[in-house]
Amino acid sequence: MKKCEQLYEGKAKKVFATDDKAMVIVSYKDDATALDGLKKGTIRGKGAINNRMSNHLMQLLEKNGVKTHFVEELNDRETLVRKVQIVPLEVIIRNISAGSFAKRYGVEEGIVFKEPTIEFSYKNDDLHDPLINSYHALALELATKEELETIKSMAFKVNSVLKEYFLSLGVKLVDFKLEFGRLPDGTIVLADEISPDTCRFWDAKTNEKLDKDRFRRDLGNVEEAYREMMRRVFGE
Ligand code: UDP
Repeated sequence: MKKCEQLYEGKAKKVFATDDKAMVIVSYKDDATALDGLKKGTIRGKGAINNRMSNHLMQLLEKNGVKTHFVEELNDRETLVRKVQIVPLEVIIRNISAGSFAKRYGVEEGIVFKEPTIEFSYKNDDLHDPLINSYHALALELATKEELETIKSMAFKVNSVLKEYFLSLGVKLVDFKLEFGRLPDGTIVLADEISPDTCRFWDAKTNEKLDKDRFRRDLGNVEEAYREMMRRVFGE
């Protein structure tokens, strides 16, 4: 597979064309942003960790019947994925209150929900990714009714697989963000990444934060937290 021109550069990843129209190469960067882009920094080694962890989790999900964009890990930072048209929604699943949920509804962090919640944000930087419901998504024609149903059931399936997996590693999966894409034939697949950038991970015993909140909230030991999650997943 030949790496061709850069198609896109985002906050944490670059995307390159390949000589196969149906495939692109994702390249993970060490750059980190938070607070709607106001906070910028570098987390040394993050790109390689997110690449490897995300690929591992995508393969675990595939084994459990979740279709994803993953094709092949090329090296530490780069992965071949199927080219998709991204559905402009951030799909957030929560098992425990934290972050914007705790703030918006005026509750403490750490409340364990009886049932997981789902919410959607409209992926639009100019509008700062506003929270929307599925009727708004339909009105804005971001996805069809059938696609939204598929996305909801895939997101809950991802949660049940990953929640159990992380608990076996001594980690609570607090919440996470997913993105979905359409293949040329219209099939919805899980896309983007699953990593400490996009999930909240708390140590099961101590509730120590092992994710990007250490960067967002200036808690220190950011690189160590990413490396600790890598150790839990790969034992290295
Ligand atoms: N999240 C993300 N990208 C975003 C917003 C949120 O990956 O642009 C993830 C975040 O890491 C967390 C979950 O989605 O695991 C829920 O985030 P929340 O809505 O609480 O927002 P935050 O407090 O991170 O602003």
